[in-house]
Amino acid sequence: MNEHGIVAVLGAGMAGAAAARRLAEAGFRVRVFDKGRGVGGRMATRRVGEMQFDHGAQFMRARGPAFAAELGRWTRLGIVAPWAGSDRHVGVPGMTEPVRALLSDLPVSSATTVVRLRRQGARWHLEDAAGTVHGPFDAVAITFPAPQVTTLLEASGVALPGVRRATYAPCWSLMVATETRPRDVLVQPRTDPIGLIAHDSAKPGRPAGSRLTVHATPAWSRGHLEAPREAVIAALLGAAEDVLGATLRPSHAEAHRWRYAQVETALEQPCLYDPDLRLGAGGDWCLGARIEAAYDSGQALARCLLADLGRPA
Ligand SMILES: Cc1cc2nc3c(=O)[nH]c(=O)nc-3n(C[C@H](O)[C@H](O)[C@H](O)COP(=O)(O)OP(=O)(O)OC[C@H]3O[C@@H](n4cnc5c(N)ncnc54)[C@H](O)[C@@H]3O)c2cc1C
Repeated sequence: MNEHGIVAVLGAGMAGAAAARRLAEAGFRVRVFDKGRGVGGRMATRRVGEMQFDHGAQFMRARGPAFAAELGRWTRLGIVAPWAGSDRHVGVPGMTEPVRALLSDLPVSSATTVVRLRRQGARWHLEDAAGTVHGPFDAVAITFPAPQVTTLLEASGVALPGVRRATYAPCWSLMVATETRPRDVLVQPRTDPIGLIAHDSAKPGRPAGSRLTVHATPAWSRGHLEAPREAVIAALLGAAEDVLGATLRPSHAEAHRWRYAQVETALEQPCLYDPDLRLGAGGDWCLGARIEAAYDSGQALARCLLADLGRPA
């Protein structure tokens, strides 16, 4: 262990990646854990043969200076590019790319679902779903969606007051490969059932072809949360054709359900941190339904840890 100690960052979405990068830059050892096969969380890119779809977040925008500076840096690196006007930016070649870059030289344990935290003396061990125990760690930073943070804390017999206040809306996401090229690269009717239709393959650096991502509205997604996948595909396809005024005749159509998609109620504080436990949590649910909010929360969580880990346990 180096003199600064080692921190477990749970979750490899934008919040976890921002926290891990900041801690590593300050000289801490970090180890990142995620239950997914890759990194990115809801900044997700699905590959199907030669095709790819951003089936989670579609684009990012900066309101504050910190994320604006990052977008500028990523743009200069060529891993982010403007798309569809109004300061919208996308990852290149997929939305996952900025998270990948933040985590590039850091140790990430993928396909590792953390199910319990155990405090032993002043240090933490993590137990994963396969029963493997990882650690010890001097501190733990959790960056899952709030309901999943609650599940982990309850299983571990610890609390971070406030997590339960945050709520999410679900989102059904439809991925379609079609010969049809829509006139607009982005339409956002926000009228049930369609929230948004993005011409995914018109984003910069994407493989050739015509591919659309269709997101259902929060209300429709909630009302159809347990609906059969085939019924969701049929309903969203028909509604997308109505919105676009075109027949899609898909060569490929699949749907993904995001149970925790968009923050509806945010905490409106940057992160939660308990210095006695050396345990913190952050994510978009702290500040709002945006990638920038996840980034800012991850940075804030890292700052709490940095301020605290300087003092004796
Ligand atoms: C369909 C959709 C569309 C969106 N559109 C936009 C958009 O256009 N613009 C925008 O700014 N934002 C958008 N968002 C929101 C944006 O994606 C999020 O705000 C942001 O990506 C959240 O990052 P995060 O790090 O807080 O959480 P996440 O990205 O959810 O990362 C959390 C990570 O924790 C992992 N995890 C959870 N439980 C465990 C466990 N027990 N063990 C290990 N790992 C675990 C997950 O696998 C995940 O990788 C959209 C989201 C969705 C779903």
